[in-house]
Amino acid sequence: MDFKIRVRKSLTNFSSYVPDKVNYKIRLNSNESPFNESNNFLLNLVYKRVFKSSSINRYPDSSQAVLKKEVSQFYGLKSNQILFGNGSDELILYLLLALTGKTSKVLYLEPSFSMYKILTKALGLKGIGVSLNSDFSLNLAKVLSKIKKEDPDLIFIASPNNPTGNSFDKSDIIEITKSSKGLVVIDEAYSDYSSDSCLSLLKKNKNLLIMKTMSKIGFAALRLGYLIGDKQILNAVNKIRLPYNISSISQLVATDFFKNSELLEKQIEVVKKERSKVFNFLSRIQDLKVFESDSNFILFEVKKSRRLFELLKKENIIVKNFPKTNKLENCLRVSIGLPKENKRFMSVVSSFLVK
Ligand code: PMP
Repeated sequence: MDFKIRVRKSLTNFSSYVPDKVNYKIRLNSNESPFNESNNFLLNLVYKRVFKSSSINRYPDSSQAVLKKEVSQFYGLKSNQILFGNGSDELILYLLLALTGKTSKVLYLEPSFSMYKILTKALGLKGIGVSLNSDFSLNLAKVLSKIKKEDPDLIFIASPNNPTGNSFDKSDIIEITKSSKGLVVIDEAYSDYSSDSCLSLLKKNKNLLIMKTMSKIGFAALRLGYLIGDKQILNAVNKIRLPYNISSISQLVATDFFKNSELLEKQIEVVKKERSKVFNFLSRIQDLKVFESDSNFILFEVKKSRRLFELLKKENIIVKNFPKTNKLENCLRVSIGLPKENKRFMSVVSSFLVK
C-alpha cells in the first residue's frame, strides 16, 4: 500500500513556536516568576495537595466546579463567566476554533505574542497583522480602518503587550471594542505587574473577553489560563473544550492560590522594584534604547545584540532574542529574575559594553 502523509495545507511552509532550551542556570527568557519552590509561599500548599490527593486513579472534575467557584468569587463574578484552559495558549486555540464562524479573519497587533498568528495560520484562517507605531504604541486609526474593511471575527490585543512590555490606552481599547462586530480578546497575561486592567469594561461591552494566566505569577507548570466574559460566548467555546483539560492537581493548587492570593503581592512588589533597578541601569547606557515596561520583563535595543545574546549564554544566562521579527532584530527581552540574577545580568551587560 502506498502511503503518503496527508498534512493540512496550512502546515506547509509553516513556522511553529520553538521554545528555548532550558539548560541555563539563569533563565530570563520566558517571563516566568523567578520565585520557585524554595521561596514560594505556596510550597506547603502544593506539597500537601500533591501528597494528599487521594484520587489519582480518577479523571479530573470536568466541570472544574470548586476552582470555578473560587475564581469567580475572587473577581465578584458568576461561575458561568469563567472558562479554564490548559494555559492561555489552549484558550487561544479554542477561541480560533469556536468563534471564527463568519469571516474567518483574525486581527492581531505586530509585534505581539506570536501564538495568535501561529495558530491562526495553522488553522488556515486569515490573519490580519496591524503594525504598532515605532514607539510600540497602538495605531488606533489603522486598527479601526482594518476592522471596517475586514470585519474580523476575532481581535487579539495583549495589554501589557509581549514582547514590548507597554500597556495600551483603555480609551483605545474601548473604541476598538465598540467598532468591532466580532469579538475582542484582551490578553492580560501580565496585568498583575501593571496598575490597570480592562475587567471593568466587561459590563458595558458584551463582545469583550479578558484572558488571564497563572503562568507569569509563579505557576507556569500548572498550565492554567482563564477567560472571563459573557456566558453565551463562553458556552460556545466550551463546546470544543477537551473534557479533562485541567489536571486535578492544577485545580487543587489553583483553588488554594485564590484563597491565599494576598500573599502574592509581596512577590509582585519585589519584581516591580527589581524592574525599576534593571530599567534604570539600562537607561543610563549610551547607544542602548530601553522601552518602558508594565510587565515582568524589559525590552531593549542594542547594537551588536547578537553578540550580547551569545555572551550572556556563555555566562549561563538566557534572555530572548528576535532575529526574525520585524522591528525587533536588534532587541533583547529580559525577564525580571531574582535580585541576584538581575545583578549578574547587569554585570555581564556592563562587561560587554566596556569591551
Ligand atoms: N499571552 C501572552 C501575552 C503571553 O506572553 C503568554 C506566554 N508567553 C501567553 C499568553 C501564554 O501563556 P500560558 O499558555 O502559559 O498561559
